[in-house]
Amino acid sequence: MNATSTSSTDEVLVLGAGFAGLATASYLAKAGHRVRVLERHDTLGGRARKFDAEGFTFDMGPSWYWMPDVFERYFTDFGADVNEEMNLVRLDPSYTVWFDDGPLEIPAGLDALAEVFERIEKGAGQKLQDFMAEAEVKYNIGMNKFVNKPAHNALEFAEWQTVVDATRLSLFTSFSAFARKHFTHPKLLQIIEFPVLFLGAKPEDTPALYSLMNYADTCLGTWYPMGGMNEIVQAMVRVAERQGVIFQTSSEVAAILDDGDRASGVVLNNGRRIAAAAVVATGDYHHVEQTLLPPKWRRYDQKYWDKRTMSPSSLLYYVGLNTQVPELQHHNLFFDTPFGPHAKTIYDTNSWPDDPLFYVSAPSRTDSSVAPKGCENLFFLIPLAPGLKEDGTERERYFQEILTRLETHLGRDLRPHIVYTRSFAHKEFEEEYSSFKGNAYGLANTLRQTAFWKPKMRSKLPGMHFAGQLTTPGPGVPPSLISGEVAARETGRYLNRLGIMPREATSVDLSVEHEPSFQG
Ligand SMILES: Cc1cc2nc3c(=O)[nH]c(=O)nc-3n(C[C@H](O)[C@H](O)[C@H](O)COP(=O)(O)OP(=O)(O)OC[C@H]3O[C@@H](n4cnc5c(N)ncnc54)[C@H](O)[C@@H]3O)c2cc1C
Repeated sequence: MNATSTSSTDEVLVLGAGFAGLATASYLAKAGHRVRVLERHDTLGGRARKFDAEGFTFDMGPSWYWMPDVFERYFTDFGADVNEEMNLVRLDPSYTVWFDDGPLEIPAGLDALAEVFERIEKGAGQKLQDFMAEAEVKYNIGMNKFVNKPAHNALEFAEWQTVVDATRLSLFTSFSAFARKHFTHPKLLQIIEFPVLFLGAKPEDTPALYSLMNYADTCLGTWYPMGGMNEIVQAMVRVAERQGVIFQTSSEVAAILDDGDRASGVVLNNGRRIAAAAVVATGDYHHVEQTLLPPKWRRYDQKYWDKRTMSPSSLLYYVGLNTQVPELQHHNLFFDTPFGPHAKTIYDTNSWPDDPLFYVSAPSRTDSSVAPKGCENLFFLIPLAPGLKEDGTERERYFQEILTRLETHLGRDLRPHIVYTRSFAHKEFEEEYSSFKGNAYGLANTLRQTAFWKPKMRSKLPGMHFAGQLTTPGPGVPPSLISGEVAARETGRYLNRLGIMPREATSVDLSVEHEPSFQG
């Protein structure tokens, strides 16, 4: 639609109330702009929404709270204290890996994990320390020098020190090669490669840069906000409302308007028009560009998207049990079958896997508030190729397979204790988030989809920006939140150029690049 809106306003419209939308809106409002968030769902949080059923409270998406420094800085930016906004606990063990010969607990902290590594492979304890020292360098350079750039083009990275630093990021070494330089035992390789699997690409295709995730996992810790991951959303909404952000739920944007030169508002699916001085879209990039913008303002065509490597989709089950399962930890990775054939179905053949790896989260092991007394709240996740079509049998088949594998490991059948089940897969990702091919978390973090090779944050339509997990820096809760901050800064600069100045000066100056003070 190439509609025209003539009304003039200084309000910024933010499409979507996931982490990126909440962060964008809060930073812009903190800087003194008037901001309204339009969200199609009736609740906030996007992929991190929650729902209640039969006395259970289920987080719908993310379950791993990693990179606590990012959240800490976020709340500090708004004069808040992350520990007052949420009751965070560090998990120890961080998680359990279930191999075919039984479970292995992954303790919190580098020294404790090094002892585990040493027991499995002689010399691997020291190698882990060496690996993490390099991973720490990557984390610090990545977080201080790279993630907060809008990545419009390569010139942003051309400063000499940045180039020097980039060479230390091992962009051109694969994660797989980097891991094998340090370890040989298959169990250790699986433990080290696990965080990368959730980044959406095979370790062979992921730059060694992302060993920064291992540093985040092992050294910065795996945390949990009591009440559930949606507590982060609630805390961010409180912060946003304190800045004056207006939330408008059940408001699906059907088109983005322009006045011929620049973004001028949106049309909702009920036909209502809302004028805007600028628009920031944080819904899935493909959906926004291909369906909400007229062709003349699209930077990418369908062919571009068809060539992208999307992150996997996921088959999810939210399960309520009328019994407890103390054998499980909060996070459980079932690596009891070889990953090779499963990975092939996701990245090469785009097919349904046999004997897939899966993940089980049991937040009620930590937090009794998310399940009725004596019950267990479980979340199962199987990563799957994006774009798969169902024939109606898969959900039951994989559910039964998970339960059978759990029965083998736990020595008892959980089936008689199931009191609630809901599943969620490609179809729901498409229906609820307009997600391209039903992907769960955006684009895979391959080298050719990193930094300025990602879809651009600045739209071809002046006055419009994109944020969220498909833009820089990438998928995951902390990166989505950072992308919102960067998009807010870019939008602030655009508004300033238009002469739309913030209403009041505040401590967040969007005209300068914010150098985060991450601690290693
Ligand atoms: C199953 C799963 C598990 C995950 N696990 C983890 C984890 O453990 N740790 C971690 O850090 N990350 C995890 N992630 C990734 C993380 O959840 C996402 O990267 C992050 O939530 C994305 O936030 P976002 O704001 O970019 O997008 P979204 O959360 O998708 O927000 C976009 C919002 O835009 C809205 N919207 C879309 N189109 C329109 C429209 N036309 N009009 C109005 N509103 C619209 C949507 O309804 C949505 O609310 C997981 C993701 C999934 C799906």
